[in-house]
Amino acid sequence: MTSQRTRDRMVGRLRKQGISNERVLARMASVPRHIFIDEALAHRAYEDTALPIGQGQTISQPFIVALMTQLMLQVQPRRILEIGTGCGYQTAILAGLCDKIFTIERVGALMPGARERFAALGMRNIISQLADGYEGWEVHAPFDGIIVTAAAPRIPSALLAQLAVGGRIVLPVGSGDEQELKVLDRTAEGWQETTQEPVRFVPLRSGTAPQT
Ligand code: SAH
Repeated sequence: MTSQRTRDRMVGRLRKQGISNERVLARMASVPRHIFIDEALAHRAYEDTALPIGQGQTISQPFIVALMTQLMLQVQPRRILEIGTGCGYQTAILAGLCDKIFTIERVGALMPGARERFAALGMRNIISQLADGYEGWEVHAPFDGIIVTAAAPRIPSALLAQLAVGGRIVLPVGSGDEQELKVLDRTAEGWQETTQEPVRFVPLRSGTAPQT
């Protein structure tokens, strides 16, 4: 149920769905997705579906994680900023494909679990903080890549400012049922935007969540 063979089957499906970057596929085959999910749901970890991770949030479906990772890798980013750590699965996938990843989560209750998983998997190039991702992470900017795993009606301006020339932002834009996955490339002349496909993410909220 949680074996290498189950992961390999997931990767087979990702190939059929159009994921072609071998580094991304190898990474998806090696990171155990089930440890990012509550034990009661772990048997569903390798289905191509989003699953609840607590606090009203979800882990994105494997296809979307693979697609966003593939889009990100096209600009060969060394330093990546992620907004929306959640359970840490997307972070863990990217950590094996870049030098350093900075990740921000606004819900305090989700961070300890994510950090424990990074430690258990021996990942030492992940730097995380509890904050409002709308602000980006100025002290570590500029980033070669920025990935946002929650949907905002507009692209937060701080993120635009913190992207290096030659860098790329991958993010869902919109709200509710009306969201599209977008890619923004920063060139010396300005910005280039492409729309990938309709998606459904939880909303990007501003501020940090009240602690319960
Ligand atoms: N990549 C995560 C996706 C989690 S869902 C995973 O694979 O588990 C999106 C996450 O974005 C949630 O954890 C939510 O709390 C977080 N989030 C929402 N608004 C945010 C903000 N302004 N700053 C940082 N994180 C935010």
